[in-house]
Amino acid sequence: MESIQLHDKTFEPYIDKDKIAKAVSSLANQIEKYAGNEPIVFIVVLKGSFIFAADLAKQYTKDAVFEFYRLKSYEGTQTSGDVKILVDIDTDLIKGKKVVVLEDIVDTGNTLEKIMSELTKKQPADIKIATLFFKPNAYKKDFPIDFVGMEIPNAFIVGYGLDYDELGRNLPEIYRLKKEKMIDFILFGPPGAGKGTQAKIIKDKLGLTYIATGDMFRNHIKNETPLGKKAKAYIQKGDLVPDEITIDMIKEIISDPEVKGLIFDGFPRTVKQAEFLDKLMAEKDLIIDALIALDVPEEHLVKRLLERGKTSGRSDDNEETIKHRLQQYHAKTEPVKEYYQKQGKYYEVNGVGSIEDVNQRLLDVISSIKLREKA
Ligand code: 5GP
Repeated sequence: MESIQLHDKTFEPYIDKDKIAKAVSSLANQIEKYAGNEPIVFIVVLKGSFIFAADLAKQYTKDAVFEFYRLKSYEGTQTSGDVKILVDIDTDLIKGKKVVVLEDIVDTGNTLEKIMSELTKKQPADIKIATLFFKPNAYKKDFPIDFVGMEIPNAFIVGYGLDYDELGRNLPEIYRLKKEKMIDFILFGPPGAGKGTQAKIIKDKLGLTYIATGDMFRNHIKNETPLGKKAKAYIQKGDLVPDEITIDMIKEIISDPEVKGLIFDGFPRTVKQAEFLDKLMAEKDLIIDALIALDVPEEHLVKRLLERGKTSGRSDDNEETIKHRLQQYHAKTEPVKEYYQKQGKYYEVNGVGSIEDVNQRLLDVISSIKLREKA
């Protein structure tokens, strides 16, 4: 299968016919078990579910009635999920019956919430939800999805009934939107290596998202978010913010589909965090492409940090505390290099020189990195 073009966008092959067929027959089996000896009223949610419902109908061997429900989600600037009913179902057809809603895909769950609240008003004996595709990472509701054909990550898919602006419904396989591929990397180096300065320049030049854990904490605390409140409690006690809180904050950022690529600064600080990050990225169908280390000799670092201490007025920036921070870095953080070295993702850049020179070296390395195919 090859990539295809629909309107202005390119889609790449994602789920083949066999996998779809297996998911559909597994759903048919699960629903048959649930039905027992009673007929099921299937509510086919149009338009997207028409192919799924037809294929499921052919697999379903017990008594079944098919009704059609059509909704339209308003396309607005907000994803508030303003859903309007275009084709309704008579109450008589549902009242006192065992009902199964057939959805092609559940994303945030907004559409489904509307469907469920409308249909339960019609007093079915019982109502269950079956969806062919489910995006657990996008789902924002609490009610359970009873029968799931296949879980998928947060990608935009078309085919097998699903459209992009009405095109693509007749594709027999599922395709997913091809993302403009950018780099996701860790900018690495000891305190004073110039990571923050460089990351900010690169972020602007390449349109990447900059994740500096320190800034992230400060923002959450300033905005009094639930995660910020948790983090503050630890910081006030003089404790380190636990990994779980940091991870949850990062999760929020990398879940944003608008993000083209990521620069991590100050994270991961330990091998354990690196393992966490790899897992987290994989969950979102992403991957760390590189760790780029800024190499600066120790005597430069001490000099730079002492200078910085003078201008920022930080009293703890004396030679002794700086040496201690560098020791901590060598002991705990440096092993992260090796972790990515083993994956063949380690790059080193000479961090001594003017900001512009170092920046050019970094950009050269970035453009030389062959991006790995995302899963
Ligand atoms: P929700 O209300 O759960 O966020 O979204 C449900 C509706 O959004 C689906 O019924 C479908 O019309 C549309 N939708 C959500 N995700 C996708 C997707 O990946 N591809 C397509 N074509 N439509 C989607």
